[in-house]
Amino acid sequence: MMKIKGSSFSRDLFAYLTLLAALLAANPPLAAPETKSVDDVSIESLLNRLSLKQKVAQMIQGEIAHVSPDDLRRYGLGSVLNGGGSFPNGNKHATASDWQALADDYYRASIDTSAGNAGIPVVWGTDAVHGHNNVKGATLFPHNIGLGATRNPQLVADIARATAKEVKATGIDWIFAPTVAVATDFRWGRTYESYSSDPAVVASYAGDMVSALQAEGLAATAKHFIGDGGTYKGTDRGDTRLPLQQLVARHGAGYPPAIDAGVMAVMASFNSWNGEKVHGDHRILTDVLRGQLGFDGLIVSDWNGIGEVSGCTVDSCAKAINAGIDMIMVPEDWLATLNNIVSQVESGEISRERIDDAVRRILRFKAQAGVLDRGLPSVRAAEYADSIGSSEHRAIARQAVRESLVLLKNEHQLLPLDPRGKFLVVGSAADDIGTQSGGWTISWQGTGNANTDFPGGSSILMGLREQIEAAGGELFTEDTLPEDVSIDAVIAVYGERPYAEGQGDRMTLSYQTESGEDIALLRHYRQQDLPVVSVLITGRPLWINAELNASDSFVVAWLPGTEGGGVADLLLADARGEQQYQFTGVLPMPWPKTDLNPANHALPVANSLFPLGYGLSTTDNATVAELDEQALSRPENIDRPVFAGGEKGPWRLYLGDELDWAVPSGPRGGSTKGNFLDVRVMDYRVQEDARSLRWSSSGVKGSQAYFRSDDAIDMTELLEAGGAMVLEIKVNRAPEKAVTLRMDCTWPCRGEVDFTNELNRIAKGQWRRIAVPLSCFARAGASMSSIDVPFLLSTSGALDLDLAEVTIAENPRAIELVNCTATDIAENG
Ligand code: BGC
Ligand code: BGC
Repeated sequence: MMKIKGSSFSRDLFAYLTLLAALLAANPPLAAPETKSVDDVSIESLLNRLSLKQKVAQMIQGEIAHVSPDDLRRYGLGSVLNGGGSFPNGNKHATASDWQALADDYYRASIDTSAGNAGIPVVWGTDAVHGHNNVKGATLFPHNIGLGATRNPQLVADIARATAKEVKATGIDWIFAPTVAVATDFRWGRTYESYSSDPAVVASYAGDMVSALQAEGLAATAKHFIGDGGTYKGTDRGDTRLPLQQLVARHGAGYPPAIDAGVMAVMASFNSWNGEKVHGDHRILTDVLRGQLGFDGLIVSDWNGIGEVSGCTVDSCAKAINAGIDMIMVPEDWLATLNNIVSQVESGEISRERIDDAVRRILRFKAQAGVLDRGLPSVRAAEYADSIGSSEHRAIARQAVRESLVLLKNEHQLLPLDPRGKFLVVGSAADDIGTQSGGWTISWQGTGNANTDFPGGSSILMGLREQIEAAGGELFTEDTLPEDVSIDAVIAVYGERPYAEGQGDRMTLSYQTESGEDIALLRHYRQQDLPVVSVLITGRPLWINAELNASDSFVVAWLPGTEGGGVADLLLADARGEQQYQFTGVLPMPWPKTDLNPANHALPVANSLFPLGYGLSTTDNATVAELDEQALSRPENIDRPVFAGGEKGPWRLYLGDELDWAVPSGPRGGSTKGNFLDVRVMDYRVQEDARSLRWSSSGVKGSQAYFRSDDAIDMTELLEAGGAMVLEIKVNRAPEKAVTLRMDCTWPCRGEVDFTNELNRIAKGQWRRIAVPLSCFARAGASMSSIDVPFLLSTSGALDLDLAEVTIAENPRAIELVNCTATDIAENG
């Protein structure tokens, strides 16, 4: 008898599983030890036993923050996922056993038929896109763009195997990877999820990646079908405009090898094709994917993706199901979706055959993934417990880091450096594992992480320090640099801060449009005649002519992940001065010569400074001539975005009250110590682009929300230009007590205005853009030459508002200007 620990198991299903187990025992699958062959007769008889509601429930995938085990017990949903930055019990520090425990709870609930559910084991999916990236302590590999630079499909397969083991250790069965997007316009914020802009390189990885993941007994997903990397202007979820044949040849290149390798799922893409959303397009999902490409597995929709289809909402879209979606990823509104589909079948909008077709695929998927007869997730997981962040996996990641680095410039063969020398390491990304790991790292956007969130990982600085000190050399940072020491070289590590979908889109490829702080840093040391090595952390090729000019050697490190030590392996020679490893990485995408396409700014940059496939080795003698530093984009306005889509530039959101004035807001929000102010991340135009700020009546001293930078910024020019603080807000509940709006020039230097009347005046429940002239704050005492808090809102009474933007703008014309003579200006005492 088959035994399943701690479960009350449905008889019918039990009989089916016993049958399935017997069949499998008689025909043990050969190649893939853990993936099951599927018996269609059993699937059919299981399908026939389900009621309409039970069938539809199988088609629903909710999110772990919104689906409790009890929900599963009652509604029998087919699947759950954890979104980026979502953890068991909302705990970022959840351990492998916390993950397993939740997987067990879901499993037990799913096979409990006492409330009328069919008793079919649930399947859990996760975005393990560069290692098991939602799990603290996991090995994080370079993002796909870096793997594209290695041109090493075997290495990619090793990474897939390691990732699969770490995922198994948490009781999860299904991975939403690989992304086989072919990025074409690098303004797209998901460029780093693409292996290459060359369809052939993407195709060369897709099959090995899928085989390796699935050989471990997990289901893989090729995503996002189709055209995600080809949108106009690189806009996320935008429109890809191509004739069908070219769409399939270019953006579909990864699918045939993935399908040949037996990929079990394909995820539909958020984008449109020639104006029509893929999620609702029968021609794309059924005619092309099933018909032309022969994909027979499960088509899952993307996160609320059905709601993007015209005429649909996130919980109702017969069109998407009729187009070919089998499983609906509907994180929050799963119950309404379930009920709506049942009614749509009853009304004939969706045929019963379509439902059967979808559910049949889901059951086959589950059988094949081994979910139907595996039993408690923790049992398998226990076997892999040691794999999370194991030294074996870290060694693979470190190899991947070494193979992914691309050397663009190396004047006078400066690299490798002799570690017995004296080095100064500078730059904001030098000692920051979160930044070097990019988006999809513990949190969704990759923000809000500290080095302590990566036990076992190493920053680039840590790796350099270890090798330099072991060789008898010396490493200094700006804080530890003695005055009289002579430095052999400066290593500057800087680059993009983490971002993911949506928030990572940009208007031009120019690096650092908001402030030129890194170029200033490089020039500062260049002027002292010190050799400068740049290490760029980036999720895409960027226009960095100025930074190249100001560097003697230039290394593109992409987003290397937790094994920052791999960078030192290439920058440094060994302790005897002999080269340890040679640079072998080559550009997976061409490197831009201009920040925009000179002929048409809407099109991708076409002229490259370095072609795809370019990459030096340290023995090459190439010199890079002085490059043009003139950007094509209009001279930037001098606006200082503080919050727009997410925190911008150096500004971070903090909450405070008298118990603790500076509580950093986390990736999902947070509360003041006294709990009178609660901040939640919310969706406005795109996911997670706004913040809800809710003050409860406290009667005590004020609680405040504010953006702050560690270094004060000079905003005099903005004041002189007649600039203003531009806010996009929605007032949900009028202020109960006085509200203060403030700018700080490093406390106690500040200028504050009474904002109560203004908030009362604004129509409730509607988004509004308003501007408060900087002169108001200046007159109230703010010194614009050193602003460290450009926005602070404080009150001691109840108030409920949503905030979507804070920009200190040069030209607030066309935005409703708050008349600050009508506002009470509190003098700064
Ligand atoms: C989730 C991500 C998801 C995104 C959808 C976020 O809230 O955490 O996993 O990809 O929403 O845009
Ligand atoms: C992303 C997918 C991801 C899903 C689940 C979506 O927003 O586009 O790539 O798999 O969320 O997190």
